[in-house]
Amino acid sequence: MLRADKVVFGYNKSAKKDIDFHSKFLSDDADIILKNSYIYPPFINSHDHLVGNWLPVALDHAPYINSHIWVEDMKRSKAYLERNKYWINKGMTDLSSGAELSLSKLGVYKNLFSGVGIVQDHAPNQNDRYYNSFPIKVIKNYRQLHSIELENWWGGKSLEEEWSSASSKIPFILHIGEGIDPKTANEFAFAKNYGILKENVVFIHAISFTKNEIAECAKNGVTLCWCPKSNINLIGKTLDIETALKEKVNLVLGTDSSFSGSVNLFEELRFAHKLYPNIPAEMLFKLIYENPKKAFFLENYFSDSTDSFLALDKTNENPYKNILESNYDKISLFVWKERPILGNYDNLKLFDIDFKDYFTFYSNGKKKFVFGHPELLNQEIDNALGYHKKLAYLPFS
Ligand SMILES: [Zn+2]
Repeated sequence: MLRADKVVFGYNKSAKKDIDFHSKFLSDDADIILKNSYIYPPFINSHDHLVGNWLPVALDHAPYINSHIWVEDMKRSKAYLERNKYWINKGMTDLSSGAELSLSKLGVYKNLFSGVGIVQDHAPNQNDRYYNSFPIKVIKNYRQLHSIELENWWGGKSLEEEWSSASSKIPFILHIGEGIDPKTANEFAFAKNYGILKENVVFIHAISFTKNEIAECAKNGVTLCWCPKSNINLIGKTLDIETALKEKVNLVLGTDSSFSGSVNLFEELRFAHKLYPNIPAEMLFKLIYENPKKAFFLENYFSDSTDSFLALDKTNENPYKNILESNYDKISLFVWKERPILGNYDNLKLFDIDFKDYFTFYSNGKKKFVFGHPELLNQEIDNALGYHKKLAYLPFS
């Protein structure tokens, strides 16, 4: 990670000639515009369900002893019934058009407004049209199971078929140990006996895992995905994080959907920090960048690190603690694959773009831009409901 003023100074004064694409969009006075910022790689959110980002949370009878009970109760919650007026979930096999795609796009904006460039959308595998619909990367290459108890109730193939098609070369994702009852406590043993303690496996939640079970995950290179806000909301307990850190598990962080989790990744990070203030901010950064790169086989993805970056206003001398003080308002410029997708409106003028592709809005007196038209997605929902639906992760909603 580099200080923005140094980076931009470098681009303008020496590297500009060599790094061609920067000369395309950073003007000579860019160092003035981006000063007092830190530049980061875009963050990685390791667990979300994009289509499920309705609000408020669907936790009418929380806490639950396990998530399977919650899945049924959720379908009767006020939030879920309100979403039914816009889209009824009759299976998630094809989310690539209609209201389900609009909802998934809103889920992507939830991520984009918190600096996320890559998100793992836990759903049955979709067609290419779906993955090509978004301004950031939604990971396409994975296999999955919803959970051991409910298997793929939401679409997708059997555990056997999904696991064999992952064939150790593709990330394999499932919810596991999301509860405190004896049934959930047996899930680790089931997974171990089934032979899926492997390096390509990402276990989501693992609340029920014992110290020994966590140590076995570490030994076998299994990734554990921590979703503290969703866990505390839903179950009242979270992963044994101290053991996971002590055993050096490949640990990643996820928001989960807003039906159970946080409003966005900034809130998730702050929640994690509040719950475990002794975890260094630098470690939290690892959970949203280095570790997920390993988990999702993305190590070479940012080969040209300069084509995607996130500039955050500097309010803390420590760049890692600075993230914990951030929100969408502090994103002065977010560039994804050379395209500006969010930031201060003045920075948009540095780029050769079509202004029609952007929505502009005011936030705390600052004029901001975002790529695409999330306001029209919000409007679609308003039309279906007959009143304005405020979605807290959209800064203009
Ligand atoms: Zn989940």
